[in-house]
Amino acid sequence: MKIIPRDQHCVSRKNISDGALKVMSRLRGGGHQAYLVGGAVRDLLLGGHPKDFDIATDATPETVHALFRNSRIIGRRFRIVHVRFGREIIEVTTFRGHHDSDPEQSAEAGGNRSRQSASGLLLRDNVYGTLEEDAVRRDLTVNALYYDSGNFEVFDHVDGLRDLERRAIRIIGEPAARYTEDPVRMLRVLRFAAKLQFNIEPHTARAIPACAHLLAEVPAARLFDEFLKLFLAGHAEATFNHLLKHKLLGYLFPDTDEHMRRDPTALALVRAAMVSTDQRIAADKPVTPAFILAALLWPVVSHRAQQLQDRGDSQMPAMHSAAQEAISEATHHISIPRRFSQPMREIWEFQLRLQNRRGRKAAELVDHRRFRAAYDFLLLREQAGEDTGGLGDWWTGFQELSMEQRVQQAAKEQAPGGRRRSRNRRASPGA
Ligand code: ATP
Ligand code: MG
Repeated sequence: MKIIPRDQHCVSRKNISDGALKVMSRLRGGGHQAYLVGGAVRDLLLGGHPKDFDIATDATPETVHALFRNSRIIGRRFRIVHVRFGREIIEVTTFRGHHDSDPEQSAEAGGNRSRQSASGLLLRDNVYGTLEEDAVRRDLTVNALYYDSGNFEVFDHVDGLRDLERRAIRIIGEPAARYTEDPVRMLRVLRFAAKLQFNIEPHTARAIPACAHLLAEVPAARLFDEFLKLFLAGHAEATFNHLLKHKLLGYLFPDTDEHMRRDPTALALVRAAMVSTDQRIAADKPVTPAFILAALLWPVVSHRAQQLQDRGDSQMPAMHSAAQEAISEATHHISIPRRFSQPMREIWEFQLRLQNRRGRKAAELVDHRRFRAAYDFLLLREQAGEDTGGLGDWWTGFQELSMEQRVQQAAKEQAPGGRRRSRNRRASPGA
């Protein structure tokens, strides 16, 4: 274990939240060890401002809970304590120990402490241990540095500092074994490589292809949680590129993955959605998973809608069924909560409604609560190379008008069968 004294690292208490400092000092006051750990120490050492603070301690969750009135114990797979200070939540985890892969021993340890599936997947991990044991069960070396806010020392048991300096993402221990325990670690490797713009150390990368199939075992709900971190944390495009390079996107969105291989427009659309999400986050604008999910599934939906139309369905019912099928197929792999799938459907259906430039309906569409997202989506499709017959430009000008002017302009649009209409028809999705 390397101990780095205060004058040899750049972590300053000034950049640590009061809540986190308070939790550590009270734990120490109670005779326990308490360290800042994980992303916070990593980001502080890189000179950044951590967005949240995780604390590791030798006190059990019950002890921590008893020390803080403003706390509660959560989790099953990993029992942790949340200590709340206003809007800030400090996560306190008890040092994890070695879990035994010997089934007899696990049973003895009481099924509820540590458990692995037949394939080696770690189902539960509530065996407590020391700082050293806790360090080696973490995912990446750069995520396993500990900071003691009492004497200002940094503890490094896995050469995390060396990797921070080399800008390397390295899994702790034997990569295949660690991915087998928890396949999500492969996604985390790519996510942190993208976020930190670090290189993935060769062994860490090389074990991915052989372990990738294990991602199919990960519960859909957990993949959705991870999806949010992958694509809504400001580094979606870089993460997406890593996922493509390491061929992991197919475990999150298999149908999309297939379409993207065949169709450069599909790939361009998804990439454009990633770029636009990153730009919005950089500009402090709100983002919703519904938009990026709508883009990720659009190649599937538009292709399916076209197939149904070719078989004789009319446009809107074809779109409805295609949306239904695409979402239900996708959720076999990744959960999509209703609060997101509903707006997704609306964005897709709006792509048809935007084709209608005539009459009062068109004039009123601009005020619809889903207009903005649907319009942005239309522009992305055009940017990706879809031919919509210049619809985007038309709506760009149209929405600038007053309601009265819109009604007038929409009345002037050609009647069905006219020039406009035939242009619109070419704009059918998947065209
Ligand atoms: P950020 O919060 O900036 O995304 P983080 O490193 O804090 O990054 P979290 O997901 O908050 O990431 O996890 C906190 C810490 O818990 C990590 O730094 C890592 O040490 C450990 N950890 C998280 N997930 C895993 C995992 N699947 N396997 C092993 N250790 C993990
Ligand atoms: Mg964190």
